[in-house]
Amino acid sequence: MITIERIGALREQCDDARRRECSVGFVPTMGFFHDGHVSLMEAARSAHDLVVVSLFVNPTQFGPTEDLDAYPRDAEGDARRAAAAGVDVLFAPLIEEMYPRPMLTSVRVEGVTDGLCGASRPHHFGGVATVVTKLFSIVGPCTAYFGKKDYQQLVVVRRLAADLDIPVEVVGCSIVREPDGLAMSSRNAYLSSDERPAAAVLYRALEGAIKNVMSGERNVARVRDAAVEIVSTEPLMSLEYAEVVRGDDLASVTQLENGVEYVIALAARAGATRLIDNATFQIDGHDIHFDLYGFGTPRET
Ligand code: AMP
Repeated sequence: MITIERIGALREQCDDARRRECSVGFVPTMGFFHDGHVSLMEAARSAHDLVVVSLFVNPTQFGPTEDLDAYPRDAEGDARRAAAAGVDVLFAPLIEEMYPRPMLTSVRVEGVTDGLCGASRPHHFGGVATVVTKLFSIVGPCTAYFGKKDYQQLVVVRRLAADLDIPVEVVGCSIVREPDGLAMSSRNAYLSSDERPAAAVLYRALEGAIKNVMSGERNVARVRDAAVEIVSTEPLMSLEYAEVVRGDDLASVTQLENGVEYVIALAARAGATRLIDNATFQIDGHDIHFDLYGFGTPRET
């Protein structure tokens, strides 16, 4: 694995690979790698000749009161894990490399950024969309791997690539969880020893909502309430939102229909730590397909 800090050098590596008819798999990250990140690297490794991982804690996607300065970092550990996952190129630019001058240009994806996390983090997805567009422009034609853990981000990135005709295929990968169901996240490192087990209630809430659908519930408010009730049993967690929306465009719905993919998405705080989680599901006649580790058969989308 080589580590590259310069945009020009990364572009050269990727252009050179494509000239040799090698495909490029790309995994954008903010580092502090866990098994969720590694699963994306492995998905890219299994399908592509050149695997590129970017590690950049993008300041423009953090709000003024958010955890940019505290965001966990471990450059050496990350390099070791990426190399062990078979990554070819680790792109780890400094902030000055990505933002050498004040940005007069930004990418704003409308509609799908209004609800869920966009409601409480009004500038977050603008920062994400702009940095992902820059990274796609640097890496060039490739397949990019994103986790469904950040489901709204996945929808935003798919939409910006489609709307701007960016030649990047966006692949969404299943959420990797801890044994008790907690979705892996770099931010789990902030949790205290009391908060850590309490946080698994989010998984149980998703599970409870899906069981509700399996037992025949089709009313969205009642499915949502099943999740809310479960989170409320955990005094250390305070719920920010629980929503069931359409999976492709995050549109609000009132009644669940056959053949449509939905996502039930949650955000909650344990003390100062904000956690998100979700599960996708689809009703096919008497069958419910869902993507919730340990509780069914994951599906690729
Ligand atoms: P981050 O470093 O948090 O920006 O995440 C980088 C990528 O890893 C994003 O596409 C995330 O959705 C994905 N990711 C984070 N946590 C998980 C997880 N538990 N399972 C699968 N993918 C994840």
